Amino acid sequence: MTKYPFLVSNPVPLSTRVEELRAIEQSQRFTNFGPVNDRLQQRFVDELFDGRGGCIAVANATLGLMIAIRDATMRFERDPRRRLAIIPSFTFAATAHAALWCNLQPLFCEVDPDTWLPDERHIEMLLEQYGEQVAVLLPYATFGNSLDLGRYDAIAAKWDVPVVVDAAASLGSKDAAGRQFGSGSKHPVIYSMHATKSFAAHEGGIVYSEDLALLQRLRQMSNFGFDASRVVTMHGMNAKLSEVGALSAAEKLSEFASVVEHRRELVETYHRELPMLQWQRPAGTALAYQFCPARTHERRNDLVAAMAARGVELRTYFDPPLHKQEFFAERSVSTELPVTEKLSRNVISLPVHDLMSNEDAAAIAQVLREAVTLSS
Ligand SMILES: *Cc1c(COP(=O)(O)O)cnc(C)c1O
Repeated sequence: MTKYPFLVSNPVPLSTRVEELRAIEQSQRFTNFGPVNDRLQQRFVDELFDGRGGCIAVANATLGLMIAIRDATMRFERDPRRRLAIIPSFTFAATAHAALWCNLQPLFCEVDPDTWLPDERHIEMLLEQYGEQVAVLLPYATFGNSLDLGRYDAIAAKWDVPVVVDAAASLGSKDAAGRQFGSGSKHPVIYSMHATKSFAAHEGGIVYSEDLALLQRLRQMSNFGFDASRVVTMHGMNAKLSEVGALSAAEKLSEFASVVEHRRELVETYHRELPMLQWQRPAGTALAYQFCPARTHERRNDLVAAMAARGVELRTYFDPPLHKQEFFAERSVSTELPVTEKLSRNVISLPVHDLMSNEDAAAIAQVLREAVTLSS
């Protein structure tokens, strides 16, 4: 019996927001850039990004990535050599799917063994080797950790290659300067508001950038590529967020600071109670935890099974990494990725969710200590 499930989604219950739902119905604006979407975007800019730059809301982060990649690589559309997207293998499937949907082929890069962020030195090696074939860099801010975006500015300028940032788990994470991760980026930065993320709406995504012209293009692309007179002038699809979706996100934004703080306390409990695990090294000043990832030196699968037998559900993100999955392997350029393979074999994720208490985290830590003692 699972006493401690890995995941408990906690979007704001809209059954308690009947007035707001009725207002949407009365407005007769259900989608297509309605007022709830407009307010949400402005609140993101004001409340998370210090009033700098802009945001567009999208139906989910995967669609946000797809339109951002399509826009970033438009200038290579007629260049058959530019077909590669540099992506870490240690990420969620959506990053690579988004590239494949844009007719690009993943070229997997390595991660840093401590921060688990994409390894920029390896990215530069790949650029040396594949230079003219690379159409875009798609770094993932691993588990909400902060990428050094200044470094990506320099790489982008040196190699004349665009950057799209997968920051799916980064809402609430602070960079080295203490600002919301992504702040000030001239590249598009894409965040998820999926029900399983710490910023739990139902479905939803945010694309942030300081480049407002870029956001204007993405907004048009998210609505079939229509210009003001409903003539298609670019690639398009439907990536818009509904008004009810925007309401769910706006309600979460109002409570989000306390969500992040609560999750930080749970992770602190794990860190204190489990000195035998190795933690991801933070590169910024704060992480918004979707769960608590760690490296174990035990036999990982035995440990996961022993925990499950004791009622604690663990996960093993990201194992297998993308390059080890046949579907992606057949459609990518293979490189040697020893750090990624070792990390993915050792990684475990401990439960972190809004409805857990610090006592729950301490109890899970106790179960894990017992499981480790018995197995060694
Ligand atoms: C969750 C996630 C996504 C996709 O987000 P959706 O909003 O569910 O589309 C993309 N990349 C990474 C790394 C993720 O964890």
